[in-house]
Amino acid sequence: MNDCLFCKIEKGEIPSSKVYEDEDVIVFKDIAPKADVHLLVVPRKHIIGLNDLLPEDQALMGKMMLLLPKLAKEQGLENGFRTIINTGKGGGQEVFHIHIHLLGNTSKKSLPFV
Ligand code: AMP
Ligand code: ZN
Repeated sequence: MNDCLFCKIEKGEIPSSKVYEDEDVIVFKDIAPKADVHLLVVPRKHIIGLNDLLPEDQALMGKMMLLLPKLAKEQGLENGFRTIINTGKGGGQEVFHIHIHLLGNTSKKSLPFV
């Protein structure tokens, strides 16, 4: 946990381009954006990934889900957006602190199909 990049960002030990924060969640720009808008929605609590969620995390994860459309609207993603949660090395997870990617283009161009 001490070595966790997103815990360090959460504590302000590593800088980030934050766009939102509250007592439970921080949101900052991905350092290597894959679309016009690419945000990472991260709980302050260190949870490794979806496989590690506990019943007590249900409200927190629900809160993050409800935040997504608000952030998308604020970022001008009126045309739609994509959310991704990578789980484990096989799922492409690189940072082992759970996060939701929020991606979208501000112009009319759509994201490629996956
Ligand atoms: P994942 O592959 O789902 O674990 O996603 C990790 C994401 O974190 C990648 O999209 C990286 O570009 C992003 N990332 C890595 N380091 C930083 C950083 N210091 N600030 C913001 N985003 C980062
Ligand atoms: Zn962490």
